[in-house]
Amino acid sequence: MDLFYRSTRSKNETVKASQAILKGLADDGGLFVPESVPTLDKTLEELSNMTYQETAYEVMKLFLTDFTEEELKDCINKAYDSKFDTEVIAPLVEADGAYYLELFHGATIAFKDMALSILPHLLITSAKKNHVKNEIVILTATSGDTGKAALAGFADVEGTRIIVFYPKNGVSPIQEKQMVTQKGDNTFVVGITGNFDDAQTGVKQLFGDKELAAQMDEAGFQFSSANSINIGRLVPQIVYYVYSYAQLLKEGKVEKGEKINVVVPTGNFGNILAAYFAKNMGIPIAKLICASNENKVLYDFFETGIYDRNREFVLTSSPSMDILISSNLERLIYLTAGCDAEKNAAFMKSLSRDGKYEITADMKANMEDFYGNYASEQETAETIKNLYDKTGYVIDTHTAVAATVLHKYQEATKDDAKVVVASTASPFKFTRSVMNAIDMKYDSMTDFELVDELSKLANVDVPKAIDEIRTAPVLHDTVCDKEDMKSVVMKFLGM
Ligand SMILES: *Cc1c(COP(=O)(O)O)cnc(C)c1O
Repeated sequence: MDLFYRSTRSKNETVKASQAILKGLADDGGLFVPESVPTLDKTLEELSNMTYQETAYEVMKLFLTDFTEEELKDCINKAYDSKFDTEVIAPLVEADGAYYLELFHGATIAFKDMALSILPHLLITSAKKNHVKNEIVILTATSGDTGKAALAGFADVEGTRIIVFYPKNGVSPIQEKQMVTQKGDNTFVVGITGNFDDAQTGVKQLFGDKELAAQMDEAGFQFSSANSINIGRLVPQIVYYVYSYAQLLKEGKVEKGEKINVVVPTGNFGNILAAYFAKNMGIPIAKLICASNENKVLYDFFETGIYDRNREFVLTSSPSMDILISSNLERLIYLTAGCDAEKNAAFMKSLSRDGKYEITADMKANMEDFYGNYASEQETAETIKNLYDKTGYVIDTHTAVAATVLHKYQEATKDDAKVVVASTASPFKFTRSVMNAIDMKYDSMTDFELVDELSKLANVDVPKAIDEIRTAPVLHDTVCDKEDMKSVVMKFLGM
């Protein structure tokens, strides 16, 4: 039986998984959610003897029911291969009493690789199933990390092209170097003279341009999005929570049925929502601990039931969590409102009109699995230093936000359940902040000197993703004004 997906904003649209992946967003602006969360049909013992790829199949087959076994296994095997620098794909590292689930062993050394390495394959399979003849053109605006992960995922994937716009003077030198050295005939990277909002607004305009859509259709192209609200990004993220629990069981770190807590450094609420789905599929997870940086909208929300984005935007050392609207939270709102699309739509309307909404007491009660807290910049730096001093293990700034919040949770509740901490980026990606946290004396070094110093300090080889860009030739040097984005796209597509 097929599992269908519905929009969070109206009852009318019901689609299959492949259609939800192709569309990304529902026509009414809502997000697709499965009509019910499937239960795992393998025992945890069985799962504990499976590889990452086998686990991925067991989880994803329950959500993507209109994919054949062969199609799905083919997508999985193309995604989770030697692009990852470890066969286990997502290793667990024990440090200071917690299990760090390292989600940064893919091509761009951040957790976005976990989903963006498979999304292109899910997308082209979906296109074939739905008899889409056009080539899929992925259009993305990036503030740094997502762009590179999407480029790496889509590079040389047949039937796709990818265009990434980034603010020319608004990303870190390493982030820019990572993007402009991207290989692949189907990739195109453009710097724009403007900020991230300009890039984002420009991309949204292109998506909404009906005239352009018609011209593209004639030329054999159509746009699609690799945005984190796509169900094709959410489902692959459930896998590593299932896998990590099964590994803990296999290694005798937890007993059968023993409940663990999960801590997730949160921005758009996608990663922690995946953990919530894993729990609802049958993984023994007690608390879902939602960690924010100084942009603590979610902490305030879990405390008060009021979501309020009307506040100052803070630039922090964990930039991938600098977000005031956590898009994927909409799915939790919908689910805890008893799948009441009308109610959810009203909240989202007041969010876009007034920048805030308040949920009901019943809904708040339905969110008891969640605990929210946040870490200041200083606390985050102290956590990196303390963990390094105590154990020699070095974590990145985002993971350090999670570890800080874990300590706050444990102090407040005395809960001593075992904990998995989602470790979302390699410390090599945020080298300067990490090294400065350990000792300010490093601040005078260049970015690549810091990389070598970190490698010595942590006793970890420099990841290939960083080593490569030291000498890699620049392959993309197009820069344009925000007004010219459309003509740049048309030129790249040969229109
Ligand atoms: C994207 C990102 C996050 C936030 O994840 P969400 O799914 O958006 O909550 C956290 N850490 C890093 C390093 C990221 O790239």
